[in-house]
Amino acid sequence: MILPITTVCGKFNTMRILSGDIGNFDGKEVELAGWVNVRRDHGGLIFIDLRDRSGVAQIVFNPKKEEKLHEQAEKLRPEWVIRIRGTVGRRPKGMENPKIPSGEYEVSVSNLEILTEAKTPPFNLSSDGTEVGEEVRMKYRYLDLRRARLQRNLRERAKVIKFIRDFLSERKFVEIETPILGKSTPEGARDYLVPSRLNSGKFYALPQSPQQYKQLLMVAGFERYFQIARAFRDEDTRGDRQPEFTQLDLEMSFASQDEILNLTEELFTTLVEKLYPDKKILKKPFPRITYEEVMKEYNSDRPDLREDKKDPDELAFTFIVDFPMFEKKDDGSLGVVHHPFTKPQVESVEEFETAFKKNPLSISAYQYDLVLNGYEIGGGSMRIHNSALLQAVFEALGNSPEKVQENFGHMLEAFEYGVPPHGGIAPGLDRFIMILQNEPNIREVIAFPKTGDGRDLMMDAPSEVDEKQLKELHLKVKKEK
Ligand code: ASP
Repeated sequence: MILPITTVCGKFNTMRILSGDIGNFDGKEVELAGWVNVRRDHGGLIFIDLRDRSGVAQIVFNPKKEEKLHEQAEKLRPEWVIRIRGTVGRRPKGMENPKIPSGEYEVSVSNLEILTEAKTPPFNLSSDGTEVGEEVRMKYRYLDLRRARLQRNLRERAKVIKFIRDFLSERKFVEIETPILGKSTPEGARDYLVPSRLNSGKFYALPQSPQQYKQLLMVAGFERYFQIARAFRDEDTRGDRQPEFTQLDLEMSFASQDEILNLTEELFTTLVEKLYPDKKILKKPFPRITYEEVMKEYNSDRPDLREDKKDPDELAFTFIVDFPMFEKKDDGSLGVVHHPFTKPQVESVEEFETAFKKNPLSISAYQYDLVLNGYEIGGGSMRIHNSALLQAVFEALGNSPEKVQENFGHMLEAFEYGVPPHGGIAPGLDRFIMILQNEPNIREVIAFPKTGDGRDLMMDAPSEVDEKQLKELHLKVKKEK
């Protein structure tokens, strides 16, 4: 039970309790505050479902008791914000509602204060919202979020994140924030750039991931780092991607690949067992399949290994390991499968160079993905901690030594000062929570998501800015017709 807090504003000076708790106050006078969910007029009585963060409670206005009050109550419309005082009592026999926790009780109102009136919402808030067009849901997201399904999604999301924080903190991981204004890290997508006012013609890049920072934190001696990190990738619309998304970013020093995968597995297993006891993890330990095997068997590196694909409570986790280091990109050029800091499975720079000359596509890497029900929900790798090898990989990718110095000189230099062997992983949280909540796309588990083409319809972003702002940033906009 949540203890009541004293409200001192308005005409009221009693204790506000939550609607879900009225059962604990049978026969007592209480105060409730919240939104009018539904109003029903029945045999002269007015019934209101009053909604607050804990759910709904039925409140009753009886014209025989308080005529003035009843007249006031007749004005009430859905989504008005009110505060009431009244006495809790049992509902008459046969009128109970077993679907809600407060369903055996109701509050007979003696005082009503209308805090704010409300326009009629543009769509129904009491449904699950799937019948409402997404554009209008996004434009009025603050109303859309009032519906029970979205309230539940975000409250569960908070629990998942808290679980992760507690789990890792107990295991002596340090939560460290890394910059949003930084330098581009090559994760294979386009960067979001931020022009610098103080350094004309120069730009920050929003992190595609905190990859370089977390590796530098290993050089700095933290050994166990994590962050609930926001990552930004300027990609074209593809399915349910978002321009910004949340990942659990973690990195460990002196740990083997198996230790990193075991820790990840223990985290996901205990999280599901504690927070989603109705879900069934199909195989424990999670199967570990090499890239070669998975491609041979399923022709996909993220197979859906559920036995019953219609069962939303089945969770088939799998690790795919030993990805190739390099791949041919769409334009025919050679690129890295993960990122260039990933450690190739070679013993020395010489072995790397020989193998690369022979056939770059045959080099495997210490790289792994975590796959769940056909979705890639995370990826990571052991890292190169030898600056000569890192330099060789960058050059193999076609960068001149000068270019490598310019873009990654800071990493190469840092590795000259005593770098521990290290590796990590970064599971994406939006998609994981989407699966846990049985939602069809990640927008349902993000408070303020963007549309497929990257717009925030509620705030109207991106938007034009003043000439003055552009001037300060040393920018000129070329208007396209
Ligand atoms: N930085 C990688 C990513 O965001 C994850 C990792 O290698 O730890 O995919």
